[in-house]
Amino acid sequence: LGRWGGDEFILITQQAADSRQHAETFAKTLIEIATAPLLMNSEKLGLGLSVGVAYYPTDANNYKDVIQAADLSVAEVKRSERGKVLMYSESYAETQKRRFDLSRALADAIASNKLYLVYQPIVATQTGRVTSLEALSRWNHPMLGVIDPEEFIRIAEDSDRIVALGDWVLQTACAEARSWGARDHSQKIAVNVSIKQLLLVNFPTRIAEILTLTDLPANRLQLEVTESLFNEENFETTLRTVKGLRALGVEIHIDDFGTGYSSLSRLHQFPVNTIKIDRTFVQTVHEKTSVIIESSVMIAKRMDLKVIAEGVETIEQAQALIKIGVDYLQGFYLAQPHVLARTESFEPLWNTL
Ligand code: C2E
Ligand code: CA
Ligand code: CA
Repeated sequence: LGRWGGDEFILITQQAADSRQHAETFAKTLIEIATAPLLMNSEKLGLGLSVGVAYYPTDANNYKDVIQAADLSVAEVKRSERGKVLMYSESYAETQKRRFDLSRALADAIASNKLYLVYQPIVATQTGRVTSLEALSRWNHPMLGVIDPEEFIRIAEDSDRIVALGDWVLQTACAEARSWGARDHSQKIAVNVSIKQLLLVNFPTRIAEILTLTDLPANRLQLEVTESLFNEENFETTLRTVKGLRALGVEIHIDDFGTGYSSLSRLHQFPVNTIKIDRTFVQTVHEKTSVIIESSVMIAKRMDLKVIAEGVETIEQAQALIKIGVDYLQGFYLAQPHVLARTESFEPLWNTL
């Protein structure tokens, strides 16, 4: 056993041939032992351990490559499922190279203005009016083509590039929104904000700066944040930031509501405006999911919050959601995200449904 560097250790152990199962059990036992809670001054402390396993000579036929293979496995397990055991697979080298390349290219793309935004309408169920447009980032890589936002956003989140990306998105979206519609009933702009941005000291100050720079009234900016906002760990910081943002006049929306850490007491403590019910609930037609939607709407109403349902793909879904009392709809049934922001109203056909 030796320390490799930082919080990484290498353990070399001899195994009988063809004993992958045995090695896995062995690694799991290691995790169990290492993660057993330690009692110090009656405080329970815990360690975490993730294990990547590589075999000599099947995975690599020299020490250096075996260690590299184990290193790739452990990087993969840390990304996908911390605290578990992962056996080496050749594909890890490829996926990690892609991530590495994309991460570097993304830094360039952000710096040289190569990303662009598309806008997806959010529509009021009562009137059919487009009250707001959500800005979504797009990236067309010169060699690799269009990269799925789920992929590059995740890479950006892992590397902290999300902060630079998010700042660019905010500036661009606010500037664009300024040009929409008549002055008296202009659409609002909804921007996705990573928890990493929100945790920056001075985030509200930066938002105030961007609003001044782009001459956008604060009440036209909506920030979509996931339930990670409610995380115990950063409770005081996030609460202060949210209050600071609300003091500016900016709206706070809870994105992907129901998929993360939704504590009702937190929802009560944080001065948020709207919850955005995640598309998995909208799209799964099941008694249990409609119960979740119905109770979310009920709670929201009692707390004086608005409700958006996202990912609405069919007229049946739209009808059901309107019946439940959702305030706004968004999804392919109404409109796809598009480079041009659609601001004309929709036929309020659902009023007569
Ligand atoms: P999200 O915030 O939940 O955004 C909605 C996603 O659902 C978008 O995917 C949108 O294209 C897609 N969508 C909209 N209507 C429908 C529908 O009816 N059916 C289905 N199946 N999908 C629908 P997209 O653009 O691929 O974005 C994926 C995620 O990437 C976003 O999820 C958001 O979490 C993140 N993201 C995108 N742009 C940004 C950004 O500028 N900053 C941050 N922090 N995250 C972003
Ligand atoms: Ca969103
Ligand atoms: Ca969402």
